[in-house]
Amino acid sequence: MLKSMTDISVHEILERTLEGKVISKDDAYQIINSGETDLITCVAGAIRNQKKGRLITYSRKVFINLVNLCRDTCSYCTYKKEPSDKLASLMTPQHVFTIAEAGRRLRCTEALFVTGEKPEQKYSQAREWLRSVGHSSTVEYISEMSEMVLQKTGLLPHTNAGSLTKKEMRTLKDTNVSLGVMLESSSEKLMAKGMPHEMAPSKNPKVRLKTLRDAGELKIPTTTGLLVGIGESSEEIVDSLFMIKDIHETYGHIQEVIIQNFAPKPVTAMEKFLPPSHDYFLRSIALSRIILPEMNVQVPPNLTPNIFGNYISAGINDWGGISPLTMDYVNPEFPWPSIESVKYITNIKGHNFRARLPVYPEFLRMSDDKFIPDKLRNYIELLTDANGLVREDYVA
Ligand code: SF4
Repeated sequence: MLKSMTDISVHEILERTLEGKVISKDDAYQIINSGETDLITCVAGAIRNQKKGRLITYSRKVFINLVNLCRDTCSYCTYKKEPSDKLASLMTPQHVFTIAEAGRRLRCTEALFVTGEKPEQKYSQAREWLRSVGHSSTVEYISEMSEMVLQKTGLLPHTNAGSLTKKEMRTLKDTNVSLGVMLESSSEKLMAKGMPHEMAPSKNPKVRLKTLRDAGELKIPTTTGLLVGIGESSEEIVDSLFMIKDIHETYGHIQEVIIQNFAPKPVTAMEKFLPPSHDYFLRSIALSRIILPEMNVQVPPNLTPNIFGNYISAGINDWGGISPLTMDYVNPEFPWPSIESVKYITNIKGHNFRARLPVYPEFLRMSDDKFIPDKLRNYIELLTDANGLVREDYVA
């Protein structure tokens, strides 16, 4: 009896969301904890069709692994390297240019700059490397490399360098069309002893939320998102999504929310942890669409290579950056599928597949033009059609 009453209530909540009513946090808790995965994903897919139509996008990018030393340690990370590791990356300007230019020839439009968290605060090797290229901070060097890539190749920079100060973001805004900072989770318990963020002060949700708010005050189109299955509760997935929603309602600058599944990796402290169940992950994706109906919701296709097509049904409208050239250095264990295969699966599921820039079309159309500096608009206009997507004659 109790079960059927709960089920009816879940149906009623979902019915209201389909009618465009705003969902409360308590209702969202009830949905994520219900066993009705098919129903929830079906409703999320319908809301995506209402709000976003049949278009699923991706960003054709090169991944510039500028420096992979990091002052922090997260228990699931294989990106961070020690200076003695043969895979440690401390890129020269020539190396950056070579990758970006190769990307230009392959019709990429995004130069994704990724770094560890302020490596110069921990490693003398990072400080010496920065000195050798004429800088004292990673952000200064990213800024110079972004300018160089922009001018010499026309690729549009998007930086993910973790938690940044407002001053650092103001510097990057001149050359980056958008920035990325994953919230990962709003759960403070993940900072506790033995938890994944115990040794990663930059992953403190207070720090990440401040970075997101500062980016909002600076009017920077910003990508954020969640890492699902690292020890958070299902309610904390909902809490995290509501925090992103609150910030976006205040500043209007969140351009996409990435929902990423934790994948246990060899030689990490979490290698024996189970990944989130497929149902739990699907409900997390669907909840992001239900809580943020107008948002661009992205799931990367490479972390679950055989089943990523299922995420279309759960309400996504973007696959994120996919590179025809470089690997995913954050998840080197998971090669990207070919762009052709992602397009094929998207089409077969009844959706159109198009390339977008690392800044979403809605930010190009905004009457508030402070989101995109004029200088960057000139580069953007060369690549886009009237809808703000990458011109079809530029890339299929
Ligand atoms: S996930 Fe990011 S912050 Fe954490 S250790 Fe890896 S590079 Fe550093």
